[in-house]
Amino acid sequence: MKSLWDDNEAKKFQTDLDLRVYTSRLLGQDSSLVLHGGGNTSVKSTQTNLFGEVEDVLYVKGSGWDLATIEAEGFAPVKMDMLLKMSELKELDDTSMVKYQRLAMTNPSAPNPSVEAILHAIIPFKFVDHTHTDAVVTITNTENGEDKIKELYGPKVLIIPYIMPGFVLAKLIYDMTRDVNWDELEGMVLLNHGLFTFNDDAKKSYEKTIELVDIAELYLKNNGACSQPQEESSNIPALELAQIRSEVSALKGHATISILNDSNGAINFSKQNIENISQQGPLTPDHVIRTKRIPVILNENYKEELDNYVTSYKEYFEENKTDETLLNPAPNFAILKNNGTLSFGKNAKEANIIKDINDHTFEAILRAEKLCVYTALDAKSIFDVEYWELEQAKLKKAGSSLEFAGKVALVTGGASGIGLSIAKMLKAKGAAVVVLDINPAVETLFTSSDMLGIRCDLTSSGDIQYAINLAVQNFGGIDIVVSNAGIFTPSENLDSLSDDNWNKSMAINLTSHQKLIKYTAPFLKLGIDPTIIMVASKNFPAPGKGAAAYSVAKAGQTQLARLAALELGEFGVRVNTLHPHAVFDTAIWTPEVLASRAENYGMTVEEYKTNNVLKTEIKSDNVAQLVCSMAGSAFAKTTGAQVAIDGGSDRII
Ligand code: ZN
Repeated sequence: MKSLWDDNEAKKFQTDLDLRVYTSRLLGQDSSLVLHGGGNTSVKSTQTNLFGEVEDVLYVKGSGWDLATIEAEGFAPVKMDMLLKMSELKELDDTSMVKYQRLAMTNPSAPNPSVEAILHAIIPFKFVDHTHTDAVVTITNTENGEDKIKELYGPKVLIIPYIMPGFVLAKLIYDMTRDVNWDELEGMVLLNHGLFTFNDDAKKSYEKTIELVDIAELYLKNNGACSQPQEESSNIPALELAQIRSEVSALKGHATISILNDSNGAINFSKQNIENISQQGPLTPDHVIRTKRIPVILNENYKEELDNYVTSYKEYFEENKTDETLLNPAPNFAILKNNGTLSFGKNAKEANIIKDINDHTFEAILRAEKLCVYTALDAKSIFDVEYWELEQAKLKKAGSSLEFAGKVALVTGGASGIGLSIAKMLKAKGAAVVVLDINPAVETLFTSSDMLGIRCDLTSSGDIQYAINLAVQNFGGIDIVVSNAGIFTPSENLDSLSDDNWNKSMAINLTSHQKLIKYTAPFLKLGIDPTIIMVASKNFPAPGKGAAAYSVAKAGQTQLARLAALELGEFGVRVNTLHPHAVFDTAIWTPEVLASRAENYGMTVEEYKTNNVLKTEIKSDNVAQLVCSMAGSAFAKTTGAQVAIDGGSDRII
């Protein structure tokens, strides 16, 4: 492991707090040191208060911040004298600790200080770095892990037995260090938890972490942890993946994103003795709020295996509870025997966090098994962290659920124009969105983890099936299909209509929609409140001369939607159609095209754009809004309907 410290970069950071931000981010950048909000750092500094008095303060990572991206305002300033007094108390319950830590802050709008604030305060050095490093924890999570750590680091590292984080941990370390000569210590290893290093110099404290982790990594390497064999990818059919997601959503009581991990590491892990090694517990206790203590193993009868998991989770709860309330008993991830894993979340972000934690845990377990036997903390200790109110508070902070959270939408023709607006709005309302488009640019258009662009020729059955498979592997299933792709065709009257014009319009504006229904229907039947939304055209109810190729195809598409509504209704799939007209804020309507078209009708551009009963301009976002309404509860009892979005047409009304 290499230090990422850069003297030139570090020069930009002058104050204590700025330097703390810099080295915190260096730690946060390495996912083998901390993952998704894990770990915490602090710096002891001074502040001048309102009365001109200089006060000692601890800037400690605020709850809910991630070390990789932390800013100065992510650190809570807490008065040192108060924290030190708290460390001398015999007992302190969690609620009081949180309350008094907040009361001791010098900035009331700062985030809640880390639950480890008191522990940071009692370490008598300016900078304190705390990580949940894979390598060190891997060694502690083996039989005789403590002896191995002793052998590795000698007396320069203080070994702390496992205890719950928070006040009890601070208290234990306070007691254990009364007679310690801190200057002789380079760090502390917290068994089954992580590593602390400290120094009055930011660089030295950070690099001490790197140095100690490097020793652990070398030890693992010398003890047989080698690279893994090359594996094939998962061969579970997409429909089975969708079935699993459907069952898990039912158990969780809400739509759930399910992400397949068939990376080399995940497949390799799933081929091991998973009945044993996957059922021991997490690498470090704070993972439990994401992953639960253990996964479900899926092999033959998914439904039965999931039901059994729920039963045994309830038993685990009964065995360990005092006065807690049962959390949802469904699993947060599954191991598919020989076929990788699935991680479940209420959105793609949450499922991806679990996937990342899994990747690190699987590697650690396999490395620990090379040393001897992977041993996690006992179930009761894990339970205590899982049901610790301060841990659960972290999840609650993640925000309230959006309308389409956990749902998967598939939008065709979504690389630009109306389709892009629809895709973005569905995402903004919480859905994971798969966007298909013939334009290859779609593959690089989206960067967030809940949007996936796939190049797809919708006239090709093979392309559509490929895209559906990818969608299901990435998000678990399909709930909302927005069949939007289409082309405008050149204006030609029937007596001179070219075969090419006609055939092309039929292939794209009609047949592609039929293919999409055909191949998505089996997945929609397993979907959560599933729906198909057809983006047709006002050209169907009110055709115009010269538009036969386009209008006839759009009429066929509308008829297709009516049939789909009839055939899929018994499976709960709603199918509705919208007829947009004169949506001009798309790429094809350049100012020049608009100007010439308006001139043809003897209108100004403004008149042309608002040439409807309401005298209003219709934008892509208005269409997207209607699509979202149709996908949502407003249309829960409606199928087979057609709604115009055209500002009102006197030809149709
Ligand atoms: Zn920790």
